Amino acid sequence: MNERWLQQSVLVVDDERFVLKTTAYILQRLGFTNVLTAETGDAALRHIDSADPPVGLVLSDLNMPEMDGVELLRRFDEQGYRGDIVLFSGEDSQTLNMAESLARARKLSVLGSLAKPVQVEQLTALLNNHSEAAASAKPRAEQLVTAAMLEAAIKAGELEPWFQPKIDIASREPVGVEALARWPNSVVGPVFPDTFIPLAEKHCLIDPLTFALVKKVAEIADQWAGQGINLKVAINVSMDSLNELDFPNRIGELLQGHGGDAGAFQLEVTESRLMEDLVRPLDVLLRLRLKKIRFSIDDFGTGHSNLTQLRDLPFDELKLDRSYIQGAAENESTRAILESTVEMAKKLDKLIVAEGVETLEDWNRVEQLGCDQVQGYFTARPMPGDEIPNWVASWPEKRAELFGD
Ligand code: C2E
Ligand code: CA
Ligand code: CA
Repeated sequence: MNERWLQQSVLVVDDERFVLKTTAYILQRLGFTNVLTAETGDAALRHIDSADPPVGLVLSDLNMPEMDGVELLRRFDEQGYRGDIVLFSGEDSQTLNMAESLARARKLSVLGSLAKPVQVEQLTALLNNHSEAAASAKPRAEQLVTAAMLEAAIKAGELEPWFQPKIDIASREPVGVEALARWPNSVVGPVFPDTFIPLAEKHCLIDPLTFALVKKVAEIADQWAGQGINLKVAINVSMDSLNELDFPNRIGELLQGHGGDAGAFQLEVTESRLMEDLVRPLDVLLRLRLKKIRFSIDDFGTGHSNLTQLRDLPFDELKLDRSYIQGAAENESTRAILESTVEMAKKLDKLIVAEGVETLEDWNRVEQLGCDQVQGYFTARPMPGDEIPNWVASWPEKRAELFGD
């Protein structure tokens, strides 16, 4: 596990002394150097106030006689505790799920919940996962990049599209790629879109960014076509762009100017943003559709689309958000919602893409659910455009390795 993570103080809260002792012992064995324990919520809050190094991780029981775990979560929130939390309880899984949701609604960072008695393997797996994520976390560039830097980068053509393949489940063949923006910044290292897209949206830079990127994407797709590679190319667009009535013409020109065939491209728009006023976006989407440019609803499952909107929007593809795909592995309710979502999408005759498929188990699950395509680290990570031809050529070999056939 990563060093920084092991050196923070860890606090275990439980009214049962035996559980406290065993959990603390497990944590020490895992390499944590500062393990604190508390038998009551009050004692826990005192530790949070005074521990040195500060508490970065709390493992807490939900059922305690004086201050229960729910109240403790509320008090953590009030005291401004911003470290991670793992919950455990002897209650049923639904109670644990509710407690997790509540903590998340309070914007507390819940890593997960465990049934009691806590199993060493489960706790280890949960913490290992998180430690890895913490170690490989994207650089916190948001404090370092400014709108002016971004604007200059867009003007200088520094933003590059990378591409992540989409694989058809039935044939196991690549059928498309999604273009993902990358900013190779020499001062602060690579900057990821989660940082600069919101910045671009806030400072009216999203259109220049989109157009600059689309131009490059079209050129690269042209080169691929010259090498006999014909993949459908998906481009992310911001909801802000769909409010601009001249957007279809500008996009259409860029795409038709190059590959000639605008129908080889599709646009992805995030579900949570689609819920705003739909009159202008509908106008824009319809005109894009007349140019044969197709449209996907991205991150489906994270917003709150209603069925009427789904009926009225001219979309062709639903991309199931990865939190949903991964949640379905652990949570029966999520699985049920996912199953009926897929069923509904099929009845509406939409293509269903599962995002964030990281393992063969994920693949098998989404295949069983009836999804059509997969996009995720299991099959391919995003890569620069000039690596795509080699990737395509080596796919049969890679595929045999992944699926063991
Ligand atoms: P998105 O459209 O949902 O894109 C998928 C994101 O998930 C990408 O992150 C991709 O690298 C990541 N990903 C793919 N497979 C896996 C997996 O198996 N596991 C995990 N954990 N992650 C996976 P990325 O490239 O950092 O992009 C983040 C978001 O930024 C995108 O989410 C998209 O909403 C936005 N974005 C990216 N490029 C553009 C762009 O050119 N324009 C606009 N408007 N938004 C963009
Ligand atoms: Ca997308
Ligand atoms: Ca997505």
